Amino acid sequence: MDFVFPPAPTPSLAIVGHTQRFPIHRIYCVGRNYAEHAQEMGFTGREAPFFFLKPADAALPATADGAVDMPYPSLTQDLHHEVELVVALGRGGRDIAVADALQHIWGYAVGLDMTRRDLQAQLKKQGRPWCIAKGFEASAPIGALTPAAQAGAIEQADIHLQVNGELRQSGNTRDLIWKIAEVIAHLSQAWELQAGDLIMTGTPAGVGAVQRGDQLQAQVAGLAPLQVRVL
Ligand code: MN
Repeated sequence: MDFVFPPAPTPSLAIVGHTQRFPIHRIYCVGRNYAEHAQEMGFTGREAPFFFLKPADAALPATADGAVDMPYPSLTQDLHHEVELVVALGRGGRDIAVADALQHIWGYAVGLDMTRRDLQAQLKKQGRPWCIAKGFEASAPIGALTPAAQAGAIEQADIHLQVNGELRQSGNTRDLIWKIAEVIAHLSQAWELQAGDLIMTGTPAGVGAVQRGDQLQAQVAGLAPLQVRVL
């Protein structure tokens, strides 16, 4: 192929125990998928699942040792952390049945759905799309990917976020309103999923602001941890 300028490099994640990398196709995100977080945002937690996307190059991949620096973004005074289990697909499809969905998973990681909360609040009031609040560069720091077979009991895994050593978010993936297989099934009715797709499955309660200089430590039990320094 002869391009008029060199195409952008393919965004990718490090993989625990591998030298190869996982190429990212799209980043799907689930909104309000833990009841206590839905309630802290003013909802009941009983709504149908809803989705938004981040561009693939919004991923901020950590090195194999789990560390990465995130620049504080422009246009916000209220940058929030949302710690999330990230599901990485190795196989795509349309109209995937819930019973078949887990076979499409390549691996798992812990990630952060970083959010310009002040802009999101304005956009919600105006009924406008969330892109500026959710889809900015480096808005998705993601740790190294653990292959599914090595990830342990990922559907009953503790999920935590500490900021400067203080526990801010704490939950367990058993409390996901829409389980991983149900999320894959729902998404595949709306989009043709592909190998390389990432799904950020939603955040437990306790979201809050970070400042320049903060150190974030994100963890899902059984997966490689993620350390993010906000610059
Ligand atoms: Mn989120």
